Amino acid sequence: MHNHLDGSLRVQTVIELADDIGYSGLPTTNPAALADWFDQGDSGSLERYLESFDHTIAVLQTADAVERAAFEAGEDLAADGVVYAEVRFAPWLNTRRGLRREDVIEAALAGLQRATDETGLVLGLIVDAMRNHDHSVEDARAAVRFVGQGVVGFDLAGPEAGFPPDEHLAACRLAADYGLGLTIHAGEAAGPDSIHRAIAKCGAQRIGHGIRIVDDITIGLDGEAEFGGVAAEVRDRQIPLEVCPHSNLHTLGIEAEAHPVGLLHRSGFNLTLNTDNRLMSRVSLTDEFAFVVDHHGFGIEDLEKVTVSALDAAFADHDTRQRLAGVVRDGYAS
Ligand SMILES: [Zn+2]
Repeated sequence: MHNHLDGSLRVQTVIELADDIGYSGLPTTNPAALADWFDQGDSGSLERYLESFDHTIAVLQTADAVERAAFEAGEDLAADGVVYAEVRFAPWLNTRRGLRREDVIEAALAGLQRATDETGLVLGLIVDAMRNHDHSVEDARAAVRFVGQGVVGFDLAGPEAGFPPDEHLAACRLAADYGLGLTIHAGEAAGPDSIHRAIAKCGAQRIGHGIRIVDDITIGLDGEAEFGGVAAEVRDRQIPLEVCPHSNLHTLGIEAEAHPVGLLHRSGFNLTLNTDNRLMSRVSLTDEFAFVVDHHGFGIEDLEKVTVSALDAAFADHDTRQRLAGVVRDGYAS
């Protein structure tokens, strides 16, 4: 559900693409050393984390590079046992060498289609707009040209603090008017107000991260959770949260046991589990599942619940979701 294309390249591919276009800015061209460099560990800063995208974006400036990255993303997800995935990125970031947004989206869709043809993995593309720039309407316009051709959603990404989602209301409305699913990064670096604005003002159907909803939950002396207005809204409406545990550990500098995923799950929130950026967090979806088992006591029923929740919240058509629900049920039954 929440997987960034430019945050999930293979290290070797970054090196080869840099060589192809003569990009000399990589900190090293040794694959193992570069993998270590990208691994953000516990940098504890969203800004520092985003800085590492400078290199992946620099090498994704040709249609061939974008197509290859999208194909390999699909191949890697399929190899991890994923049956449905939505890959996202901001095409505007890939227009530095003359591509138009539409060219970039077309290349990504071609790569995803090739991955589907080869692996059977069902893939959709989410187009991101960067919330710290003022051209989100142009981004949405490019996205809606591909409705029905593989683009399934629209998202606001980039630094959250200081850039409220409703500054991009026109873009969100345009995307929704054309039938795209709307998910918005909120409650990652900013608090519950950001989540509230994404839902109530922009009409987000899903929330990217959303973990800071815990700021609106109080645990009483009796151990019972008390929900503030925003937390109650998110829980009562069962708004799906795209939780990405390792990404949060790395950008927010929190300990594994202190991650809110367990509390939110036990409190009845609608959670899905995601990788965010597989390169920067050096993580797979299997790792994220293992994380909640090891650190938050999830059992097999809990994992099935979050998997089914993800499928329910997917921006795929009804028939696809029904078919994949059978695959997921059979998988957990076996
Ligand atoms: Zn993200």
